Amino acid sequence: MHCPFCGHEETKVNDSRLAAEGRQIRRRRECLACGERFTTFETAELVMPLVVKSHGSREPFDEQKLRSGLFKALQKRPVEQEQVESAVTRIMQRLRGLGEREVRSRQVGEFVMDELRHLDEVAYVRFASVYRGFQDVEAFRDEVEKLRSRRRREPLAGQLSFLGSDDAAKKSANPEKGSKGDDRK
Ligand SMILES: [Zn+2]
Repeated sequence: MHCPFCGHEETKVNDSRLAAEGRQIRRRRECLACGERFTTFETAELVMPLVVKSHGSREPFDEQKLRSGLFKALQKRPVEQEQVESAVTRIMQRLRGLGEREVRSRQVGEFVMDELRHLDEVAYVRFASVYRGFQDVEAFRDEVEKLRSRRRREPLAGQLSFLGSDDAAKKSANPEKGSKGDDRK
């Protein structure tokens, strides 16, 4: 491909390997003219369902929009680009897996939240607060509460400590006995 920096027609591939659990090929390239290095990701292009917006209009699924939504939520968070690419791939796989010709935008949002919940709690709360349009502090608090009780079942570093004291965690939410929940971690 042409160099995205200077437009030169020849670039060479320095490294090529599988990414996103084998669903992508990641290539490190170098321009033969200006020497800039960049990365390309190659994925199979598969048919995606149409997205039905809340007011009923339909639009083609937009992978770039999904990606930039994730990046926006993850701004300045310690998450690598490749993890984001894997999340994008998984979300698209799940959407295709529904086997429908159309999916609600709400469904896409739910899948995004599933991924963010695993990637980074701060990003998750950021996204959820915009996406769910929390009406007030209580709704926000409920979401953090849910996240905390889930986190107690899947322990990981206490990323939520930035939210302050643990008193909210004390009036614990229903622990969903018998259900293991999402055990992808
Ligand atoms: Zn170049």
